Amino acid sequence: MHLRKGTDAPRSLNAATLFGVLAGIFTLLLITAIALLVADQRKLLDSVTQLRTQALPTSIEQQRLARNIETLRLEGERVLSASTPQARQQAMFVVNLMASHPSILGNPRARDIATETELFLTRVTRGEQGDSAVHAEWAQLSRRLSLAADDISVEAVSLARGEVATMGAVIEGAQQKLYATLAITLVFVIVLLLLMHRRLILPLQRIDATLKTLGKTAPVLDLPPGSLHEIKAIEGAIGQLHDILQKHEETRDELERLAATDMLTGLNNRREFMHIAAGEVARSQRYGRPVTVGLADLDHFKRINDQHGHAAGDLALRAFADLVRSTLRHADTAGRYGGEEFAFVFPETTPEEAAVLSNRLRSRLDAMVIALPDGATLRMTLSIGIADASVRSLEEALSVADQALYEAKASGRNTVVLRPMAGLSILPPDFDH
Ligand code: GH3
Ligand code: MG
Ligand code: MG
Repeated sequence: MHLRKGTDAPRSLNAATLFGVLAGIFTLLLITAIALLVADQRKLLDSVTQLRTQALPTSIEQQRLARNIETLRLEGERVLSASTPQARQQAMFVVNLMASHPSILGNPRARDIATETELFLTRVTRGEQGDSAVHAEWAQLSRRLSLAADDISVEAVSLARGEVATMGAVIEGAQQKLYATLAITLVFVIVLLLLMHRRLILPLQRIDATLKTLGKTAPVLDLPPGSLHEIKAIEGAIGQLHDILQKHEETRDELERLAATDMLTGLNNRREFMHIAAGEVARSQRYGRPVTVGLADLDHFKRINDQHGHAAGDLALRAFADLVRSTLRHADTAGRYGGEEFAFVFPETTPEEAAVLSNRLRSRLDAMVIALPDGATLRMTLSIGIADASVRSLEEALSVADQALYEAKASGRNTVVLRPMAGLSILPPDFDH
């Protein structure tokens, strides 16, 4: 027996525990991944808000400031290069406007350089400064104005770029987390499928195969080590079921044997004899082979009971059954037909050959002395009627054999009478071959 009984199986993993633990781990990992993704999404939203409400407006402001500084510088050029006093005045007007523009006043660096430029140009328009000094100072001022405009413009771009870079990093991080979540899910599904295959499907397939042959062979489940508790419980149940089925089969065989056997003599009972004989007669007739039946009755058996008691009669019946078993051939079948009446079927045997066999039985019984427990001995004789069964039904053949038996009795008992198709043949008591 390769199966372990459920009770003495070693401790094994419970299916609910295994899949519960797996589901718990997976849920935790998933919740963590989702929480991280939600945090990333919030960060992204914050960055978008920041970009929209601060970085972009500030950047636009700065760009405008840079443009104003550049306008201031260009108007300064025009003040210096103006050919008419009106043109110079107009350019100076714009310079004054730019220098007092809120965007320039709001930025200290721009404010300082704008004020400086305005003062310088005012001095120039009033003619307070010499030509060579004007050009040198303006060249320097113009460069500083360009530099300030450039710096502020670059600052504006970098402000928005910084926020966009933060957003890019957040999106990249979220993408990686999403991939990680997908990978975790994939791994979990693969692990789950492998576990299900190894611990559920494989054992179930083996259980199925074992159950199909359970009645015929001893169950060999050969479950993989670490099988689930529930599967091992089934393994134990299959083992018990097999034992029960085997006992059941043994009991059925025994019952069948008892139902077919005469309890006193151990020979086939009448029902079983008729069953076997019918098969033999049918088979022989189908192939045109000889087959013969015989009916035997112990002579004056009543006297044995009367003289020695019923128990002695039983003992005599058993002794006769033993003699039948040792005298008949393997292929012949004998049965207890009635009280002290017996029937035989001789397959592949002509009536003449059966008569010889029957006469051997008769003569051996005639010579047999049965010792009784009380020390007494008894002897008995037998009359046999033989009939050819190859040409008639079993019932008809037995009926003819019964007539032959009657004739054997009538002719003085202890004899074998063969009833051929026609005529009557009585064999003398000393007939033997
Ligand atoms: P015959 O030669 O004409 O056959 O005479 P008989 O006495 O054998 O015939 P009868 O039919 O009158 O008697 C048969 C006896 O066999 C009667 C019955 O008590 C006895 N008998 C039948 N079955 C058993 C049994 O199982 N055990 C015992 N001890 N006797 C049995
Ligand atoms: Mg009788
Ligand atoms: Mg009798």
